[in-house]
Amino acid sequence: MIDFRSDTVTRPTDAMKQAMINAPLGDDVYGDDPSVNALEQRLADMTGFEAAMIVNSGTQSNLCALLAHCARGDEYITGQGYHTYLYEAGGAAVLGSIVPQPIAVQASGELALEDIAAVLKENDQHFAMRRLLSLENTHCGKVIPLDYFQHARTFADEHGFAIHLDGARIFNAVVELGIELKDICQYVDSISICFSKGLGTPMGSVLCGSKALIQRARRLRKMVGGGTRQAGMIASAMDYALDHHISRLKDDHTHAKLFASLIKDVEGFAVTAVNTNMVYVDIDPALNSELLKQLLKAEGILVSGGRSWRIVTHLDISEADIIYTVETIKDCLSLMQQAKV
Ligand SMILES: *Cc1c(COP(=O)(O)O)cnc(C)c1O
Repeated sequence: MIDFRSDTVTRPTDAMKQAMINAPLGDDVYGDDPSVNALEQRLADMTGFEAAMIVNSGTQSNLCALLAHCARGDEYITGQGYHTYLYEAGGAAVLGSIVPQPIAVQASGELALEDIAAVLKENDQHFAMRRLLSLENTHCGKVIPLDYFQHARTFADEHGFAIHLDGARIFNAVVELGIELKDICQYVDSISICFSKGLGTPMGSVLCGSKALIQRARRLRKMVGGGTRQAGMIASAMDYALDHHISRLKDDHTHAKLFASLIKDVEGFAVTAVNTNMVYVDIDPALNSELLKQLLKAEGILVSGGRSWRIVTHLDISEADIIYTVETIKDCLSLMQQAKV
């Protein structure tokens, strides 16, 4: 299958599996897993934070971060379309009694600092206490540049709140901007990084922050059932990904651009955006996009969306796959035209 639905569908390579098999293991809840400890230290060094903690998923990582930053009745400001507001089943509110204050996300993927200023609440008995700004990079594949974080930091310091960065795909931003992970992390108080997307591990995320924050987050991780034992098997996959799967993210971005440049000449397809490893295309209502999807599936090509597709490139998609896919789309379209469906 050539699977464009998400970069979460990547499977561990044989070399990654070998690293997992060879990993020295212990019980991580006891702090005894050497592979986990080494990975956490490596991430702390890479981000410039004091500490790091391996977590089962990005959602669990963000949840532990929000709950570690905020107490019951505190408020976090975030974007309407950001993961920490929209896609985490309301976990921060349900499990932490933390009040979300979502605001509109700009076309750039950023939150306008004026919009944040407009919802800032006084320290007054009527209001929830402002505690945290929760940002995202990349958002829908859009890279948020370094100077935005610099301004957000100044703003947060002026108004006395912390910044959490949902950096599920932060390495896509890092390779696109040609910077170091540290360069972004210096402006935030915590970061969550996913390894099961473009980096290709079977599961796992890492939360990084100060020693005190990660200590609180460890208790929270246990509380939500996220304390795992021989997690070194996952940590070793992550370690392998850091060595072998970061710079190649550039290839995914190149493949996304290639797909966009080929599909834009196909009648009925309009490219609306190409952001790092994601291509957004709109399909002419005159075309039966559902049927096209079915035909593509029969040819081993999976896409998601109705009339608007999000095509995600990743580790398991090659240049040849991109070319084959666009050719197959053309073939399916002419079949549909002949059959008048
Ligand atoms: C994927 C993703 C996450 C975490 O998702 P999980 O499936 O829980 O690992 C968090 N934030 C963003 C922006 C994401 O894209």
